[in-house]
Amino acid sequence: MDDSIAPPDRRAAALSAALADRREDLIALTQDLIRIPTLNPPGENYHDICAYLERRLRASGFQTQMIRAHGTPGDCEAYPRWNVVARREGKRPGDCVHFTSHIDVVEVGSGWTVDPFGGLLRDGRIYGRGSCDMKGGLAASIIAAEAFIATFPEFAGAIEISGTADEESGGYGGVAYLAEQGFFSPQKVQHVIIPEPLQKDRVCLGHRGGWWAEIETFGEIAHGSMPFLGDCAVRHMGAVLNTFEEKLFPAMAARRTDMPVVPEGARSSTMNINAIHGGQPEQPPGSTALPSHCVPDSCRIVVDRRYLVEETLDGVRDEIIGLLEGLKRDRPRFDYAVRELNHVVPTMTDRDAPVARTVAAAIHDVMGKDAEFVASPGSYDQKHIDRIGKLKNCVAYGPGLLELAHKPDEYVGVDDMMDSAAVMARSLAALLLPETE
Ligand SMILES: [Zn+2]
Repeated sequence: MDDSIAPPDRRAAALSAALADRREDLIALTQDLIRIPTLNPPGENYHDICAYLERRLRASGFQTQMIRAHGTPGDCEAYPRWNVVARREGKRPGDCVHFTSHIDVVEVGSGWTVDPFGGLLRDGRIYGRGSCDMKGGLAASIIAAEAFIATFPEFAGAIEISGTADEESGGYGGVAYLAEQGFFSPQKVQHVIIPEPLQKDRVCLGHRGGWWAEIETFGEIAHGSMPFLGDCAVRHMGAVLNTFEEKLFPAMAARRTDMPVVPEGARSSTMNINAIHGGQPEQPPGSTALPSHCVPDSCRIVVDRRYLVEETLDGVRDEIIGLLEGLKRDRPRFDYAVRELNHVVPTMTDRDAPVARTVAAAIHDVMGKDAEFVASPGSYDQKHIDRIGKLKNCVAYGPGLLELAHKPDEYVGVDDMMDSAAVMARSLAALLLPETE
């Protein structure tokens, strides 16, 4: 008989058994992925990890393509931006479900007590840079797809799995590039799940927007003993920061979003000042040279402004420029420049969208409690799938705790990966198997 039309409880039991058989495989796969150090920057070993994924997925019956994002930021002969996209056709027409994971990891940093690329398994956790963000999620999606295909080979539609470059630096050589090539067009793909570490019982609907800019104030150089003969750019920047403290920060804090952003503090608009520099360059460490005495003619800050779906990018820009223009009116000799570095629009999938409802129902079945709908304070690849691909039916769902991402001794729990894989496999069953007759 055709198992794909078995009653839902029999389907679930068959999937659970197929997943349980793959526990050791899931651990080994996660360890293998961690042991390929795909540091970004500069973008190391992307070809190696894509080739590894290609071998793995071909062995499971997927057709694969390796795609280099020529000419995207950072792409060069030493550090080519490789991506892999794998597709497995079902036996009859139907929707395509695509799992997309980034393959890059951030720098190691200090404070580790284990080898960051060793893939150590200890007390049910696998340690390493990228274990949580997001090689554990990638491995869980592969195991989920393989278990589903083995259990229900007659499934309808198609399953795609991609490993993509550069998410940690904006995704331009990864999902953005693939979206430009049509890989995320709604004609080709109907449901997207991004296995970012948002926690196994949460469905992440989207993220806030971001605007990054450098603001510079100008002055006039003069001898430091006679500052009145020049004009101090650092004091002008002090006035900018004062205005931000008095006007901008309170206004941002008062704005609240209906997006279910976690943690709670990110449910308002926020801005970080990433860097400040004024005057002559700092001496290199160890230098014994003394600074000369000058009035600084330039001071720069870099701001990281995160905004809400209820705000507009123009509004965000205009608010800051309005305050700077106010200073130009009121403060003698004040002048400034704003150089925009990058921006990302906020995105949010409706919680009634098919993929959001399906994953939430699967969480309920596997975990025995209602799924929590959340949104992310920082952005991830969903922005490109929405804005370039024009595909709205997309959520982030995967194992791991976001708080561990980018930290020393990052890990992912094996049980969490198994539970997430069960949710992903059940989501595939709900989307790609016909209803019981
Ligand atoms: Zn990530």
